[in-house]
Amino acid sequence: MPSTVQFNFDNTYQHLPASFYSEVKPAFIQNPQMVMFNEDLAGFLGLRLLDKNPEALAAIFAGNTLPEGAFPLAQAYAGHQFGNFTMLGDGRAILLGEQITPQGERFDIQLKGAGRTPYSRSGDGKAHLSAMLREYLVSEAMHHLGIPTSRSLAVVLTGEPVYREKVRPGAILTRVAQSHLRVGTFEYARNFHEGKYLKDLLQYSIARHFPELEDSDHQALAFFEAVMNKQLELIVHWMRVGFIHGVMNTDNMSIAGESIDYGPCAFMNVYNPLTVYSSIDEQGRYAYGNQPYIAHWNLGSLASALLPEIAPSTEEAVKIAQKSISHFPKAYENKWLEMMGHKLGIESIRPTDKALIDDLLHWMQKNEADYTNTFLYLRRRKFPEGSIYQQSDFKEWLHQWQERIKANPEVAQQLMDKNNPAFIPRNHLVEKALESASNQGDMREFQDLLTVLQNPYEDRAGLEAYQEAPAEVDKGYRTFCGT
Ligand code: AMP
Ligand code: MG
Ligand code: MG
Repeated sequence: MPSTVQFNFDNTYQHLPASFYSEVKPAFIQNPQMVMFNEDLAGFLGLRLLDKNPEALAAIFAGNTLPEGAFPLAQAYAGHQFGNFTMLGDGRAILLGEQITPQGERFDIQLKGAGRTPYSRSGDGKAHLSAMLREYLVSEAMHHLGIPTSRSLAVVLTGEPVYREKVRPGAILTRVAQSHLRVGTFEYARNFHEGKYLKDLLQYSIARHFPELEDSDHQALAFFEAVMNKQLELIVHWMRVGFIHGVMNTDNMSIAGESIDYGPCAFMNVYNPLTVYSSIDEQGRYAYGNQPYIAHWNLGSLASALLPEIAPSTEEAVKIAQKSISHFPKAYENKWLEMMGHKLGIESIRPTDKALIDDLLHWMQKNEADYTNTFLYLRRRKFPEGSIYQQSDFKEWLHQWQERIKANPEVAQQLMDKNNPAFIPRNHLVEKALESASNQGDMREFQDLLTVLQNPYEDRAGLEAYQEAPAEVDKGYRTFCGT
């Protein structure tokens, strides 16, 4: 029987040595039900829907009916989790295949929560509805914010219970990503099977993500630097919108430079670099302000994994790698300054602008100002009456800033409109929407929030409830890994 959704699958990952994956079929789901289907994304991917009947779609996105050309597998990888190295792998995710879009781009199509795999360890291979809807919402929000990210194609309810701190409805998310190659995939290649497959992985990754490096004389180093640049750009985007990933373990850092693995992520309200929401991050390792340092650290793990490919002698390889990675802090600082300049309407940064930026951030931190809304008010040139923004210290800062951007007000406005979102997924709204969806099966709030977040930069009236910071400063807000 032909499947009701036609994919255009290729399967290159399976040509890596067999130890990079295990063939595994999704668990059979008795009575799957469609909850979300991203028609725009399906169109972009070039999926052909022969039957839009929700039952037929659910059979595909639950993994019951395998589309033609699918080669289901779980990927092997390792990783540093909170600094500790360990063997991991897809414990609850199954790659169906690589969709080739009408534009010739390649995307992994992966079912998350589709059952146990040889890498599940003590896990049940399942996922629950609230966590999968959270990933759907936040990844789509990130995409519309213009930030490289995995995307979400579908969510199905499995009808099966998932046992966590309480019993929850089970669900499967279809995740779409440029690939699921991670820093942890390289750590796996280096540390297992005597490292003999490292070169295969490097060549595969270059062909897939950086084909322009195929002729490079120094492929491993060029690859490392290309990944470093992508990571750097990604983290600067996160800092721009106040995104806190929450679990930047090396197995969650994509080689393609996309945000992946939306577990305990959240958006910062009040500006404070120490902000951390994840319940498992007791030390604040992955706090907002630590993200660039952690990205640097994770790149160190990638560099170590690549050493045998960088130079034949370890000593020489270490020297080369250290020199290369030593550029990260300055490169990050420059990119970050440029980005903050854009948030303030400054087209090209001057040395004196750093003080202007730092003064604003210090003021925001001291006064517990909302990060997103402060920039939104600057964008509007209008501040709430009777608020912290009437303080004389802020007015002094405002005067300096106005002097700085007055030469070219149109350009300043354009930059600010493009770089300061009017809407972010506010934690309290996300939680409320997820609660109605998963406890009452009521998707209205979720849909409304998603619709607003699909157009995050246009500052439109009538949606103030989506812009307000939470009434209580959210110091006690906690996110969970969603496993
Ligand atoms: P994460 O924190 O989501 O990046 O997951 C870390 C590791 O735990 C990965 O190897 C996952 O595949 C695995 N994992 C997470 N949840 C489950 C689960 N419910 N069952 C099996 N493995 C899981
Ligand atoms: Mg992960
Ligand atoms: Mg996860």
